This record gives sequence, C-alpha cells and structure tokens, in this order.
Amino acid sequence: MSDVRVRFAPSPTGHLHIGGARTAIYNWAFARHGGGTFILRVDDTDPERSTPENTAAILRAMRWLGLDWDEGPEVGGDRGPYFQAQRAASYAQALETLKASDAAYPCFCSAERLEAARERARAEGGYAGYPRTCRSLDPAEARRRADAGEPHTWRLKVPEGRGDIVFDDAVRGELTFSAASLDDFVLVRSDGTPTYNFASVVDDAGMGITHVIRGDDHLSNTPRQILVFEALGSPIPVFAHLSMILGADGKRLSKRHGATSVEQFRDEGILAEALVNYLALLGWSLDDRTTIFTRDELVANFTLERVGRNPAVFDPEKLEWLDGVYIREMPAADLVDRMVPWLEAAGLLASGEAEQRRPWLEELAPLVSERMKRLEELVPMVRFLFESRVSVEEAARAKVLEKEGAGRSLDAAAGALAAVSSWEASAIEESLRRVPEALGLKPKAVFQAVRVAVSGTTVSLPLFESLALIGKERTLERLGAARPMAAE
Ligand code: GLU
Repeated sequence: MSDVRVRFAPSPTGHLHIGGARTAIYNWAFARHGGGTFILRVDDTDPERSTPENTAAILRAMRWLGLDWDEGPEVGGDRGPYFQAQRAASYAQALETLKASDAAYPCFCSAERLEAARERARAEGGYAGYPRTCRSLDPAEARRRADAGEPHTWRLKVPEGRGDIVFDDAVRGELTFSAASLDDFVLVRSDGTPTYNFASVVDDAGMGITHVIRGDDHLSNTPRQILVFEALGSPIPVFAHLSMILGADGKRLSKRHGATSVEQFRDEGILAEALVNYLALLGWSLDDRTTIFTRDELVANFTLERVGRNPAVFDPEKLEWLDGVYIREMPAADLVDRMVPWLEAAGLLASGEAEQRRPWLEELAPLVSERMKRLEELVPMVRFLFESRVSVEEAARAKVLEKEGAGRSLDAAAGALAAVSSWEASAIEESLRRVPEALGLKPKAVFQAVRVAVSGTTVSLPLFESLALIGKERTLERLGAARPMAAE
C-alpha cells in the first residue's frame, strides 16, 4: 500500500449527482491506481439539510457504481468516525490547539453589528470583510466574557504580514491568492458547530489526507483551508480542482438539463459501468483516442496529469450511445443478469422463474442487445414474447390485417408452421418462406400479417426468432385468434 490517502466527502443534502459521482470516481481511481486508500466521509454538519435517507441513497449509489471505499461508513477504519456530526470532539480539540498557539480568538460581534460594518465598508467602497474588531480584545477580558456565557464565535487569526498564499494545484497549476483579502473567518459558530472550512481541514488533517480532489467550486475555500492547516501545524495536502460540468447550453449542469442523479440514470436503464466510463471522460482522457475502457483500464491509466482544465460538457446522447455499446458487447449470460430485474419488475417473470428459463433468456438476449441503448427499452420490446395472449393494436389491424389476403396468409402460415417438427428459427423461416409464392402474395404482406398476429404490432423483433421463442403452440394459437380480424 502506498501512502496516498484520498477522500470523497459528500454532504448528504441531496442524492449523488453527476458532479459528485465524477469527483468520487476520480478519487477512487486515483487511490486504486497508486495502491492508496480511498475514504468516504459524510459531511453532515448541516443538520437542517442533511438526512439519513440522503446518506443511505449516496452509499447505495456509490455501491451501484462499484466505487468501494476502504474506510468510511459501514466499513469502519481507524481514523473514524466518518460522519462529521460524530466528530465534535475532534473539532473541539483542534480549537484548543489553535487557542493554545493564539491562532484563534473569540468574537463577540452580533450579526447585526457585523452587517452594519459590512454596509459601511461597502458604502465607502472599501473591503467588506470582517473588520477584526475583536482581534484586539484583551485576552483575559475575552476569556472572562466567554466564560460568562456571552455568545461568541471563534475566528482564525490570519497571521499578520502573511504574504500571498501560493499552491500548486495538480490540475490548474500554480495559483496565488492574496492573504490580505482573507478576513479572519469563522471557524466555530456561536452554537459550537464548526464551519465547513474548519471541519474539513480538521478531518483532512486527522485522516491523513494526502490529496484533496474535488470540484472547483471549492477553489476559493482553498487559501482559507491552507491557513487552517498551517495554524494546526499539519502538512498541506496536494489540491486538485476539477472543472465544472456544463450542460449542452454551456450553463452549469442542473435539473433543467434532465436526469442528473446517479440513481435516476440507473432507473432509466443506464449500466453502472457505462456511467462510470462516461463520467470518467468528463475531464479526463485515457489517451487521445480511447473512448471505451473497463474499470480496470481506468484504474491502470488514471493520473491527475491527464485531467483537463476546461469545463466538460455533459452530453446525455453520448452517454446513451456508450450504454448501447456496453449492452451490445456484453456476453449474453451477463445481459440476462441485467435484464432479469427489469422483467421481474414488469411482472413478465415471476421471481425464481429466471433460473429455469435461463436458456430461453439467453436466446432472447442477442435479439434485444442490438436494439436498445438503455435497459428501460427492454420491456416494451419483449412483452409480447412473455404474455399468454396479445391484443392487436388498432393501427396494425387496419393497416395489415384488414388488407386483402391477410386471412389467407394466416391460414397458410398456420398450416405450414403446424408441420414444422423441430421448432427453431431456421426451420420456421424455411417453412414460412414457401408460403407467399404458393399464395401469389408478396413475402412482406404475408410476414407482416404473421407478425401482427403474434406481436400485435407492425414493428417488433425479428420474426422467425420471435416465433421460435414464443413456441409452436402459442404461435398457432395467436394466428388462430387473429384470424377473425383478418380480411379474406
Ligand atoms: N462536503 C463538501 C461538498 O460536498 C466537501 C468538499 C471538499 O471535498 O472539501 O462540497
């Protein structure tokens, strides 16, 4: 095992979204590539917006994506707990460290007072940050007021004369922030809870995080966090900020762009491996030509050097195309495993039935694999193969069965098929191909009549293979049932 330790730290204020999933994938792949440790930490410091349901949904989505973590909820680890809400003792201890080195001080300013100061500064066109009012309080006096229970926050004492904060971002290169523009920000709120910038650093330090890989919406927090690392005397991790993910319209990806949560994609029939593959490509490339790669190939090739700086555009059509490729190229037995839950959910298979119908399902798999881009498309396409009888669509009846010759076609097809002894696609085809000529009709007219009778629609899976799957008895039944609807 290498020393690399990375974390994915979602806030359970919602489900796992595309952006978070990409961050998780990069952290996971980076850890796995280098034999490091991948930690999952739940940043649930916002009690109003964090819920156990969201946490459960995030863990479920992570597992579905196949992103296993080495330390975190449900797996444990020796740097836990891995929920921020359970780490109050660590934050209190870290605050003590900062107090002892005079790196933090209590601030008694009320919210109103701070707002008034901000207004004044704005009106004067000056810097609207905290005016450091309480920084110069006499320490003994400050302690007395705090001990007496006067409400106060704790602020970081940004070191006097601290020059620019410079760091080498693994994606964006060297970045410089002026320390003068950072006010003495709050570490601990008046209710005793830590702010994100404090909790995150205390945890990253406590968990020995070596690389912080996250979205660039946190770029502006980074100089503040570096000051906290310095104040705690902890090594500063390498930062890697990932560029935004945009919708096709160039705007930041949001619900307006359609499905954005991982579980929504799952429910729409996108495969986990296709989603991982696609999301990996939103800001990273394996080389300049490879689009499709396995999870192992991603791990083998993942480096931060190949993460790009430009915003990535999320293209649902490309995701769907990629999913179609995965479906097409999957071995039949695997595809059956993916199909079964959908068939069961639709009531087409009873639970337990899949095992005994496995050979049949494996014959079906290649028929559908060429024709769907998402598993969601499966059920409407195959329903007619499962149901005991089909109802013929009105349009199909008018267009096909009510055409002259349809009745004769069904009769002749039934006669020919009744004589087929070995019920498989090739024998079925051979016998049906002789029918049109004998009737003096076009093959298409005859085959369409048969198709409508057995499937109820004019478009369906390949005819001969479908009949093979439906079985002889049911095929003949359906031809008979459609007969009264057909013109002579
Ligand atoms: N909980 C933070 C978020 O979800 C974590 C940010 C970070 O990785 O530092 O945005």
